[in-house]
This record gives sequence, C-alpha cells and structure tokens, in this order.
Amino acid sequence: TTAIHWFRRDLRLADNPALAAAAAAHAHVVPLYIHAPEEEGEWAPGAASRWWLHHSLHALDAGLRRHRGGLQVLHGGTLDALRAAIQATGATAVYANRLYDPASRRRDKAVFDALEDDGIEVVTCNAALWCEPWDIATKQDEPYRVFTPFWRSLRPRIDEVEAIAEPSPLSLAALPHAATLASLDLLPSLDWARGFKAWTPGEAGAQAMLDLFADDAVGHYAESRDMPARHGTSRLSPHLHFGEISPRQVAAGLRQRLSRRRNAVDIEPYLRQLGWREFGHHLLYHFPKTTKENFNPRFDGFRWARRDNHALRRWQRGQTGIPIVDAGMRELWATGWMHNRVRMLTASFLTKNLRQHWVLGSYWFWDTLVDADLANNAMGWQWVAGSGADAAPYFRIFNPVTQSQKFDPDGAYIRQWIPELVDAPGHLVHAPWEDEAFLKASGYPAPMVDLKATREAALTAYQGLKHDP
Ligand code: FAD
Repeated sequence: TTAIHWFRRDLRLADNPALAAAAAAHAHVVPLYIHAPEEEGEWAPGAASRWWLHHSLHALDAGLRRHRGGLQVLHGGTLDALRAAIQATGATAVYANRLYDPASRRRDKAVFDALEDDGIEVVTCNAALWCEPWDIATKQDEPYRVFTPFWRSLRPRIDEVEAIAEPSPLSLAALPHAATLASLDLLPSLDWARGFKAWTPGEAGAQAMLDLFADDAVGHYAESRDMPARHGTSRLSPHLHFGEISPRQVAAGLRQRLSRRRNAVDIEPYLRQLGWREFGHHLLYHFPKTTKENFNPRFDGFRWARRDNHALRRWQRGQTGIPIVDAGMRELWATGWMHNRVRMLTASFLTKNLRQHWVLGSYWFWDTLVDADLANNAMGWQWVAGSGADAAPYFRIFNPVTQSQKFDPDGAYIRQWIPELVDAPGHLVHAPWEDEAFLKASGYPAPMVDLKATREAALTAYQGLKHDP
C-alpha cells in the first residue's frame, strides 16, 4: 500500500514520528508539500519566513533524493491537492504531524474530516513538542497561565522521552503532476536577504548549529545568554520553528555531545528556555485569540497612543536615535534574527516610550524574523507590553541606556550594527546625545523622544487603566 506524508512545519527526516509511522505501515510513501499560504489567513508566512522556507524545502528535497525520491510539491487548496495526490498514487492513508495555531487547526479538521469521509485513513502525530497542550493541566484541570508551575509540571516528563530513533528507510513514490519548488516563488524580489547567508536552513544546518552550541556556548549559557555581542545562545529558533529539529533531539543531542566532555555542564537553564517555547504553544492552543487580543482583558481599556506611521517607520528602520534599540532593529533587518534581550528592549521602546500597540510591533517581527512563530511572538510581545500571561508588570519600564550599559558594556554590539557610532568614546556609545558636537559629527540621529518624559507618560496612562472600572 501507499501513504502520503504531508510535510508542514516538520521539515526533517530524523525523529519525524508521522513519517516513520507511514514508512512502517506502508510499502511506499509520497513525501508531499502543499503550498497554500492563504489557508493560514492573516498569519501566512512573512517575507523572512518565506526565504527560510524556500531553502529548507530545497534541503528536504536533497535529503529525500538520498532515499531515491524527491519532495513532491503541489499548490493549494489543500483538500483538492491531497485528493489529487491520492487519486494519482492510489494512496490509502495520509500522515501528518500536528500544528497548533488556530487557522491550521481549523483547516486540518476540515481536511481530515473530509478525507475520512472519503474512506482515507488519517494519522496525526506530535513532532514539535515535549508535551501536547491538552496533556498538561493544573490541579484544577485548567490550562496553565503562569510559567513556573507549568515548567515544574513539564520538566520531569522531558526525561521520560525515549531515545531518538534513526530515520527509517524510505521507499518513496512520486506524483505525475508535481510542481517545482521554484514555482512557489518564495524568495523576496528585493535584494534584502543578502545578510541571511550566515544561516543554513534545513536538517543538516540545524545539527551543525547544535554542534556549535554544544562545543562552546552551552557551558556558559546562563552568564552569556543576555549579552547580545556574544554568541551566547543556540540560534536554533528558526530551525525549531520549521521543525528541522525537535526539542527532544536538541536535549538528547546536547546530552550525548556533552557526555564526551570531562567537565559536567549544566543544561538546565537552556532546557528552561525551551520550556518557554512549550509554554507559548500551550497558551496559543488554549487561548487562540491572544495573537491579537490582550491575554489580560484589563488591558483592553489601556489608552495606546494613536498609530503613528512615521514613528513606526523610524523604529522599523533603526533610526530612533536610541543606540541599543536601533542596533537591534538593524540586526533584525540585516540577518532576520535579533537577540532575545534586544527583542525585549526594542519591544519595550515601541510599546512604552512610543506607546504604540504591541500588535503593530508583532506584525513587523512577523514579516522580518526568520524564526517568526505565532506562539512565541505573541507571547513575547504581550510579555513586554504587560498584557500577557505571566507578563512583566507594566510599570517596570526598561531604561534602554542602563540596559545597554549592563548587557553591552563596551558597546561592541552597538558598534557592530551602527557604523555611525563605531568610534564613539566610552559611555557615549550608549547615549551619544550627551555630547552634542559628537552627535552632530557622527551623522547618527538625535533621540526621537525624551526617554524620561515618555516613561512618565506611559506610567500615567497605566495609572488611568488601574482606575478604570
Ligand atoms: P536560545 O536562548 O538558544 O533558546 C533556545 C530555544 O528556546 C529558542 O530557539 C526558542 O525556541 C526557545 N526560547 C528561548 N527563549 C524563548 C522565549 N522567551 N520565548 C519562547 N521561546 C523561547 N521566538 C521565536 O522563536 N519566534 C518569535 O517570533 C519570537 N518573537 C519574540 C518577540 C519578542 C517581543 C520577544 C521578547 C521574544 C520573542 N521570541 C521569539 C523569543 C526569543 O527571543 C527567541 O526564541 C530567541 O531569541 C531565539 O534565539 P535562540 O534560538 O538563540 O535562543
């Protein structure tokens, strides 16, 4: 018999439960990718994600060719594409790994119900998470809203996860009418992704990134993870988003690599960060509206400033005049990624100092991050804005200058991304406006707002919220 494996955000051959199950139960597997971005509604992949997807699909295709096959590509709608593939190959079953965002869940339910009505067997598996969002609950049998108890409950289960199976041998079948990857037209027409070259999308690229992290950074992750000038984090986020590697593979791979070391390395702080990713999925699954609506409804009465396109543009382009904020926004534009500490600072500047709605920031990140992920992006923005589950309290407003002094003490990160400040002396790299003559000569903009005054205004707006009924 023949089965279809429908690839989505599980773009890997190893530790792919649905693919392995299809290969175990059927003589032939059709490895299929369906391009139907309109089915993901408002959260169809942004420009940076499409760049990643293009290269990741090519890498997957190359991997499948080593099994004497190749990725079969069809254009959407999904149900029609699957029915056409079934008809062309005589497949009796469709296998897929589950997705958790609301648009995909709705679509999947409709598609799988229709296929089952057609008499096709549908098998779905979990490839992305340690624990399904519905398999973990509070004592009151409710979804978690606070990270620490969520993590306490999830953490023991991570050790229960079995060893990672080797990729199964595949006997692949092809479609007579498949489209080419080039026909998906995923690459940007602008020459914007030039700086993305440091990335290697795909399964092998993910393993290489894990090697790099295990060799060095994981040993000092707890100390370095907040320092944007260091390569102190794993940079696995886009690989995890596209399912080129699973959290189980990350944890098992680290343990295996580190077991060969003489000194013990504590990977707990790193596992905890992966726990935040699980928490994001948990929240997205149980509270699907929070991609756009405040998790905490008390914030519905908050008086955001009116949308200011000019201010937004300066923020997007890294022209706010606040060095650590601009360095982050320029890193994002140039590489499709931004360091977590700086994501927090740029988001805080937008939502507190400019008082622009967090959704406006999340849209920009969605379009420009190679790791844009609905669960993590919404959670990250709401955390900074103060409206989220287990969020930073609104009144704790980051001071970008003291944060910059603390986490980028010699300004190496700022100098890397802001050429105007490359020769800035000492403390001026964090606050160049303190020397007017220097600022003028540097060509770097003056701050677009007064940090102190906007902070006060944000706190006043927050006070107003508290007194609202
Ligand atoms: P590491 O420190 O090496 O962590 C390993 C993995 O754990 C990450 O790859 C990621 O999958 C997960 N992780 C780490 N920190 C977090 C976190 N705070 N929340 C959720 N998961 C986490 N992450 C995304 O993957 N996609 C997004 O769209 C995204 N948007 C964000 C928006 C804002 C405003 C903020 C503050 C954070 C956002 N994050 C997002 C979370 C975090 O910044 C990135 O996951 C992290 O910077 C990725 O780099 P890394 O792989 O080197 O992380």
